[in-house]
Amino acid sequence: MTAKVIILPLGPIQTNCYLLGDPASGEAAIIDPGWDAPQVLAAVKKAGLRIKIVLLTHAHFDHIGGVAGIVEATGVPLALHPLDLPLLRELGGAKAWGIPMEPCPEPDILLAPGQVLEIGSLKLEILFVPGHTPGHVAFYERREGIVFGGDVLFRQGIGRTDLPGGNYATLMSSLREQLLTLPDDTIVYSGHGEPTTIGDERRENPFLA
Ligand SMILES: [Zn+2]
Ligand SMILES: [Zn+2]
Repeated sequence: MTAKVIILPLGPIQTNCYLLGDPASGEAAIIDPGWDAPQVLAAVKKAGLRIKIVLLTHAHFDHIGGVAGIVEATGVPLALHPLDLPLLRELGGAKAWGIPMEPCPEPDILLAPGQVLEIGSLKLEILFVPGHTPGHVAFYERREGIVFGGDVLFRQGIGRTDLPGGNYATLMSSLREQLLTLPDDTIVYSGHGEPTTIGDERRENPFLA
């Protein structure tokens, strides 16, 4: 494995922000910067990486709070699936939760299933995995055997579907058709909690039995 993955749990519900770097070129992506833009940018600098893009798995407030600060400071493009645009525009439900947040910029890149994003020599495939939100995506690096799954699949858990736009049947088909079809040794970096693997969850996840 050559990719550099740095995990930064941020904010009140410890949302995992990921720095994904290609050591050869130094190019990197920030995935789901939920809060604390200055802390994320400091981690990027410390790791000797150059940010190319900010990627969102989905637009819930706990995944987008650091976007504005990072985009303002670096000018890098923001990428999101268009079906999560309405959610982004209402700040991921922050208002309903009574959480103050600064406005999030509009995405520059609208993600589509099967699209491939290049971060140096890394190739991130867009997997469309709705159900937790209507426009949820996962970022899959096939050669590295890693997937950034947001709030779809957790160690011993699955994403909640009781929030606006959630749908249980849709989530289950996303899991079965898009994630559980990946090789067993694929490492899953989730939106919350510890990393896991597809094989472990296929065997042990009580929600997938
Ligand atoms: Zn979420
Ligand atoms: Zn979350």
